[in-house]
Amino acid sequence: MTIAYITHSACRLHDMGGEHPESPARLAAIEDQLLVTGLEFAIRRYDAPPVTREQLHRVHDPGYVERLFALAPATGLHWLDADTAMNPHTLDAAVHAAGAVVYAVDLVMGNEADCAFCAVRPPGHHAGRAEAMGFCFFNNIAVGAAHALSRHGLRRIAIVDFDVHHGNGTGDIFRDDGRVLFCSSFQHPCYPFSGTDVPGAHQVKTPLAAGTGSRTFRDRISGEWLETLDAFRPELILVSAGFDGHWQDEVAELNLTEHDYGWVTRELGALARRHTGGRIISVLEGGYALPALARSVAAHLNALLD
Ligand SMILES: [Zn+2]
Repeated sequence: MTIAYITHSACRLHDMGGEHPESPARLAAIEDQLLVTGLEFAIRRYDAPPVTREQLHRVHDPGYVERLFALAPATGLHWLDADTAMNPHTLDAAVHAAGAVVYAVDLVMGNEADCAFCAVRPPGHHAGRAEAMGFCFFNNIAVGAAHALSRHGLRRIAIVDFDVHHGNGTGDIFRDDGRVLFCSSFQHPCYPFSGTDVPGAHQVKTPLAAGTGSRTFRDRISGEWLETLDAFRPELILVSAGFDGHWQDEVAELNLTEHDYGWVTRELGALARRHTGGRIISVLEGGYALPALARSVAAHLNALLD
């Protein structure tokens, strides 16, 4: 079993300043944990290439892409919404974050790796076709899914999102695309206050009340996702892996533990073995309590290795 670990140095230079929770320290904490746990020796490292305009335009409005390139500041910060800002390195980071997922698809579909983890930031699942929001600029996982559909000719892809926030950008991008089944669990009500209202036959929404813990989370995922995913028979599973539902993470109020992230990953791994030849690609989204994030990513990677 080989896990491709795909990242890029630019992802640690994007910095929204001061006390912003989506900080470069997140990737540093994950890297430290790889050493502490010995996972460093179980992964194979790859440098993320930049995404191309053609790859971005499959899911993003070309005018929006050009606007982002034009807005990149030479110094300081340029704020796009109350909590999403570009520094001089942001665009480079975003371009490599999206490129990482495209590369992961090529590696996994080319049988060079069994599965992949993209340790990237900025995250992507809130980014819509023409909108940056919620720390996200390009929708990394959507760019990867579109690449798998377009370049590799896949007909059924499952995107599973267990970040504490609804993956509204991903949901919007694939709302009318029957080739993509999107399963998202999220605290509700909570930012971005979407999810329960979004129509779409190919979207499974699992809203969770504040305070939800391990038992309910596992029951809901088992009951609402697994049978639907089995029936869909995906050819590839993509995971929006956000770890901000951890009880120690203060951006929201779920009470999950790293063991829950290990559990859901093992369930997805079993699905992958049944349907995709084991192909599973995970992309970092949220997770802001650094020790909890690091332990959760380690549990996630260990489960992928199982
Ligand atoms: Zn989140």
